[in-house]
Amino acid sequence: MNSNQIYHKFKNIIPLIKKKIRLISVISVSIIVVLVILVTFINSTKINHLKNVNVLNTDLIEKSLIIEQEALKDSIDTNNFEIITNSLEEKQHNTIIETKSIKIDSETYEEVTFKSGDNFIKVLKTLNIDVQTSIALSDALGEIIPPNLIRVGDRIKIFINENNNKIINKVIFITKNEEILIKKDLNDRYKVSIIPPILEKKYSLKTLVVDETVYKTAQESKIPLDIINKIIINHSQDINFNKDIKDGDTVIIFYGTSINSKNNKALEHQLLYSSIKYKNDKNSEYFRYKNISGNETFYNSDGVSINKIIFIKPIKNSKITSSYGMRMHPVLGYERMHNGDDYKATLNTPIVATADGTIDFIGEKGDYGNYIRINHKNDLQSAYAHLNKYNKNIKNGDLIKQGEIIGYVGSSGLSTGPHLHYEIIRNGEKINPSKFAKNTSNIYLEGDDLQGFKKEYNRIIQLMKDY
Ligand SMILES: [Zn+2]
Repeated sequence: MNSNQIYHKFKNIIPLIKKKIRLISVISVSIIVVLVILVTFINSTKINHLKNVNVLNTDLIEKSLIIEQEALKDSIDTNNFEIITNSLEEKQHNTIIETKSIKIDSETYEEVTFKSGDNFIKVLKTLNIDVQTSIALSDALGEIIPPNLIRVGDRIKIFINENNNKIINKVIFITKNEEILIKKDLNDRYKVSIIPPILEKKYSLKTLVVDETVYKTAQESKIPLDIINKIIINHSQDINFNKDIKDGDTVIIFYGTSINSKNNKALEHQLLYSSIKYKNDKNSEYFRYKNISGNETFYNSDGVSINKIIFIKPIKNSKITSSYGMRMHPVLGYERMHNGDDYKATLNTPIVATADGTIDFIGEKGDYGNYIRINHKNDLQSAYAHLNKYNKNIKNGDLIKQGEIIGYVGSSGLSTGPHLHYEIIRNGEKINPSKFAKNTSNIYLEGDDLQGFKKEYNRIIQLMKDY
């Protein structure tokens, strides 16, 4: 074959080859396109698949968390109350604690309610309180409520200084039953105290008709036990409950009940008035009154107390060597009235006030030598003579308690040797101290106390009328 022949053969083949190349390129392009589509599709399904895995995983985490929470709740429920624990805290990074700022009486405070999973320090952290302050507050609160006994629903109010929001004025922690105050003292330390509950007063007026005994009748009428006991004690002054009371006698009881307005619990009962009609027309009645010294007791309508005035001996373990009455005076040598009792005792034996009172006289007084006189209730006075020295801490006008040392035995004034001359004076008249001590008298109110009693008497009567 010559070159021309070869040329002609190729000339025929070329279009064929061209045709094939085109076909190949079309096929390969379509293959690429298909491949690209396929790869994209595969990729997209891959992503979707991964996404599904992710969702599933978080689902699992949340579910396990819920299961744990539930298990925790169950274990708490079996204890009958819900204590916040910290075990969940680390897993729940995104707990949102709701706070609200409230302004009352120009005081701004933030209030937070404790939820499951909260703890004291964590809650304070959300309020931007620094750790040191949080720990100090937690320690202070811990004196009343340990941190592990903070319960779901407990609330905390943080009062912040308006001029400097880093200064905490006070913190009030509120539980179901009480409110606790945490406040800095003068030494800049947090001190904790329970805020006294707000009390509501409720009055009860009961009229009972005695069936068998006063005690049984009152009990059946649901009168509180402490009130019943008080009534029995008060009226025992006038009534022999075994002999004097019969069926059909009437008892009137008026008492107040202090109720904690926070939880409606009765905190205490206070008897204000009671009367018992007995032996046909006899009436025994007593009113409560708190005197100027702050002592609370019961008085009849004239202001005579159920309490009796009782004098003790001026010297412990000492005997009367010369008693009240006419006698031959050991120094003067003639018969004369002895206005008191003489107690023999060694020099400087302590002498005590025989009843509560006020110092009326302290100083030298003629034959009495060194002398002290005390004013008592019921227009009574006690006097102490021939003292060697006085208690240097007492002076005229001082209040003195029964049994308090007022001076020491001596032989000053007209005296033969160390002894105490002791007198009781009633309405200015020197009476027999030994006889008086045996016939104690009920204390009656005088002066401002009598005025105070009359006011209280009228108030109680009015309360009963308005009932
Ligand atoms: Zn005497």
